[in-house]
Amino acid sequence: MIDEGLLQRTRCIYFYDTSTPCNKRAAGSGCAAIGGINRMHAILGTSEHCIATHPSDMCVALAALDARVLATGPGGARTIAFADFHRLPGDTPERDANLRADEIITAIELPPRGFARNYTYLKIRDRLSYAFALVSVAAALEPQDGTIREARLALGGVAHKPWRNREAEAQLIGPATRQSFQHAADTVLRQARGFGHNDFKIELARRAIIRALSQAARGTPQSQADKRIAGSVS
Ligand code: SF4
Repeated sequence: MIDEGLLQRTRCIYFYDTSTPCNKRAAGSGCAAIGGINRMHAILGTSEHCIATHPSDMCVALAALDARVLATGPGGARTIAFADFHRLPGDTPERDANLRADEIITAIELPPRGFARNYTYLKIRDRLSYAFALVSVAAALEPQDGTIREARLALGGVAHKPWRNREAEAQLIGPATRQSFQHAADTVLRQARGFGHNDFKIELARRAIIRALSQAARGTPQSQADKRIAGSVS
């Protein structure tokens, strides 16, 4: 059960279409998504070999919380930091995670820090249900007297793995202002690159980051049940 959730594969229509080239399915065959229909594809951490995205919601939240994956195999037990568990495609896109073939996952550890008051998970998708995220943002803040003392920010739907940017998180330390949120979003997306159909994701991600941080700062987590979007700070 744990393995199924954490080892969810990246999502790409061409991966399932055996009439098209796909480096993830057949190494060295090419990537049909680059130059193809790539509306759902990645804008960060891509390689010339693969631009697929990690579709999970749960893993994005676990990344923001600094979870740890416990694995065991013939070589013994080990702990993998969540940021190191999933992989970017590089030149081995067939490998989605850093779990060895002879290992199994035995547990997930969550630090006691839960950011229970100031958090949100914002998921932008084509439909309100039964759809993977075009862009999702997990945001968690620790404010004190109007100043952010710690910030976590993880994105889904934009890369081959849940995407964190420590520089942007560090920039959020200080007064909780829209300008600060915009600055952090710009940092996250500085290296973003579109492939045609998915160019819109760059601006979508920028707005989603600002919205999610605004909601988290107000202590108004968005309910995925009632679909309302909470207000933002000015
Ligand atoms: S993006 Fe990745 S999964 Fe999709 S066709 Fe290219 S190599 Fe295959």
